[in-house]
Amino acid sequence: MQAAELISRKQLGGELSDGDISQLLSGFVKGSIPDYQMSALLMAIYFRGLSDREGRCFLDEMIKSGDRFDLSSLPGRKVDKHSTGGIGDKTSLIIAPVLAEAGVFVPMISGRALGHTGGTLDKLESIRGVRVTLSESEFVSVLRACGCAFGAQTDSLVPADKKLYALRDVTSTVAIPPLIAASILSKKIAEGTNALVMDVKLGPGGFLESPEQARELAERLVLWSRDHGVETRAFGTDMHEPLGESAGNWLEVAECLRVLRTGDGDPRLLELCGLLGGAMLELGGVASTPEEGKELFLTILRSGAGYSRFKQIAEAQGADPKVWEEFERGSTARNQHALRAASDGFVIDVHPREIGFALVELGAGRKTAQDRIDPAAGIVFQKRRGDSVVRDEPLATLQWNGTPSDADAGLARALRAFEIGTLAPTARPLLYFEIQ
Ligand code: URA
Repeated sequence: MQAAELISRKQLGGELSDGDISQLLSGFVKGSIPDYQMSALLMAIYFRGLSDREGRCFLDEMIKSGDRFDLSSLPGRKVDKHSTGGIGDKTSLIIAPVLAEAGVFVPMISGRALGHTGGTLDKLESIRGVRVTLSESEFVSVLRACGCAFGAQTDSLVPADKKLYALRDVTSTVAIPPLIAASILSKKIAEGTNALVMDVKLGPGGFLESPEQARELAERLVLWSRDHGVETRAFGTDMHEPLGESAGNWLEVAECLRVLRTGDGDPRLLELCGLLGGAMLELGGVASTPEEGKELFLTILRSGAGYSRFKQIAEAQGADPKVWEEFERGSTARNQHALRAASDGFVIDVHPREIGFALVELGAGRKTAQDRIDPAAGIVFQKRRGDSVVRDEPLATLQWNGTPSDADAGLARALRAFEIGTLAPTARPLLYFEIQ
């Protein structure tokens, strides 16, 4: 069947057969299905959806499109975590070294910034020298030596997802729940993990705003991964406000290093790390319950052992050993600008989507796939949701390289993110649901 006929079938709400999906994905990887046809198909899928069978078939075909890592030479269970993406969401960089300290292998194939959300790989690359494009043998050797490795998808690891993900990013077709599930799981299954903890972000800072969509995605992740022999727990967690004290690549690494060194930090960030890390320790067989896992996680975190483990992992991936002092000294961004409150009152909300797009304007994310990231671009939050403010008090500090006027659009968007009102808002939960 020709690609145009399949696009038209989906436009009209029909189903694609397993053979159609296999033909479309293999043609797309080989280049015989061009980007413009795949974009049209993605848009049809965005509006018409995919059935459970179609989604599972996308997952199977994506895995088949490339190689799978063989981690069988490493003893014990391998446990990974993944977030569907948010603003200031830096938990992977804190959790992975702590898990490695507890003796659980964490093979982490991560993603880059996508749309308005940040990406673990871009954060890691703000550490001078770090390489995330590792061959299978490099990845396995860092994992064996350090207990954790952070890698990027390579041309041979799920190439169908690599190409499709890039196209979805620039055609505004990321928010298709079955494709998000297939995209995430294809990488996790191919990297060879035995178990997975998923953080499904709920709210405007992520991709899925409605609780129903987030829950549906979480259920799908748990069920589909089980069929591939990967045990998964999924948590629906809050993304109605940025997570932690900062957002932006270098700043987020600096924040994680502070947390790992001192065991202390933003309470919501620590709570989320404990929740996800505890579940991972249980799945890794080191704790008998998630609660016991959380206690163990926090004990290791407070000991500061995760700090030296993080440096060991990053240095094994090429980090310049002198770079850690720079993180302690503070940012060297050429420009800084304080956002100030226009009136007295309370911070009712810090809208994460506005912050995300402000970060893209500042250079912390990409508008097109070719854009270069400014690692120093970011925001430090002086005021958080619920805090009281007086007029002219700083709400946040923005920083970036480039020229002062490069950030005009970003400053305007960041200012719009802060909503000031007269009454303190009620507290919002961090955890909405859990599926296993
Ligand atoms: N993260 C992924 O790996 N894939 C998606 O589609 C969305 C977020």
